[in-house]
Amino acid sequence: MKAVVVYERGGKYEVRDVPMPRLNDGDVLIKINYAALCYRDLLQLAGYYPRMKYPVILGHEAVGVVVESRDPRFKPGGDRVVPLLHEPDGTCEFCMRGLDSYCINALSYGENVDGFFAEYARVSGNALVKVPNGVPDELAAFTLCVVAMVYKGLKRAGLAYGETVVVTVEWRCWYSRRSIG
Ligand SMILES: [Zn+2]
Ligand SMILES: [Zn+2]
Repeated sequence: MKAVVVYERGGKYEVRDVPMPRLNDGDVLIKINYAALCYRDLLQLAGYYPRMKYPVILGHEAVGVVVESRDPRFKPGGDRVVPLLHEPDGTCEFCMRGLDSYCINALSYGENVDGFFAEYARVSGNALVKVPNGVPDELAAFTLCVVAMVYKGLKRAGLAYGETVVVTVEWRCWYSRRSIG
């Protein structure tokens, strides 16, 4: 299959023919419908993340269809899914409490586990969410990175309509005078 492979720190990448992903128990093979480009991809491409492995397939925002499954929660031939930003192990103390976004052993797509700028991808069923009918691929693809982080931040901050908020992202920070609306 074709994939965008980062093969060296410092932004060296190319489209390569790579072997199809192999599944372990609990894994799902998805055929990528759409993948979105995020600022995080550019940081990973540049090698700013300390856990980068090389070579790695870039990309962490995608939507696809299940074509093979070793997780009984997902069925080939119909289920449309989006992966989380990180792949929880499903076994640590946080995962066992349902707080898988705090997983201490989480892998990060496009960083230390292959991501989604490819025709197919292996994803743990623990990292997949089914997409409801009626949500188009081009919106679903970036829901679990861009939208979910903002939504969670707003909920945790307890902000109400019309309030002003300071937004920080990665190493950058800017002050937003725009009201929430
Ligand atoms: Zn992203
Ligand atoms: Zn965990």
